[in-house]
Amino acid sequence: MIKREDVVTWLTCYRQVLKDNKDYLTELDSAIGDADHGANMDRGFNAVVAKLPSVEDKDIGTILKTTGMTLVSTVGGAGGPLYGTFFMRAGMAIDGKAELTPDDLAVAFDAGVAGVQQRGKATPGEKTMLDSLTPACAALHESLDGGADLKVSLDAAAAAAEQGMKDTIPMLATKGRASYLGERSIGHQDPGATSSFLLIQCAADCLGKE
Ligand code: ADP
Ligand code: MG
Repeated sequence: MIKREDVVTWLTCYRQVLKDNKDYLTELDSAIGDADHGANMDRGFNAVVAKLPSVEDKDIGTILKTTGMTLVSTVGGAGGPLYGTFFMRAGMAIDGKAELTPDDLAVAFDAGVAGVQQRGKATPGEKTMLDSLTPACAALHESLDGGADLKVSLDAAAAAAEQGMKDTIPMLATKGRASYLGERSIGHQDPGATSSFLLIQCAADCLGKE
């Protein structure tokens, strides 16, 4: 079972990973965007971690919904509302639960990804965060359905997210700011796909124990 302390640890760990990767994400966004993705994510998750003490004794749905609302209210641009939607929808899907089974987590991730897709009107293959999130969800389901435990399944999800992130390099961006570059977006790794891989990697590190 995944407990709320594990979820708090996941979000706190992600804040640290974003801090460590702030310059890297900014560098990626300077090639095909406006060089703010590192700062955006860092600011957003600092605000999330500051909010956690007020919700850490609530159910996991509330923790995730609060995370999403905090991101929407503290991060501008495309990334903030999209990550905000991911966490709000994930939280709504498991509303009221104080613990999650591995399948609950997969359901929450699916709902989050569906929310991103709806809000941003992108599909996989357009060089966005969906290119790491979508294969990660597929791998998580496949592994859990095959009978693997949560740790193994989240490791598989993180490996799929990493591959998905790398697969954005040759893609032509057709959504978001990078799409303004047209063909010049080709040859660069998408910043949002990179921060999404890091999110799933943190989940594997922090949630992957049963
Ligand atoms: P902005 O583009 O407004 O500067 P960020 O730099 O924080 O916002 O985030 C950029 C990332 O957002 C991109 O790398 C991409 O992964 C993601 N993104 C942009 N538009 C969309 C969309 N329509 N759907 C999904 N993800 C998107
Ligand atoms: Mg940007």
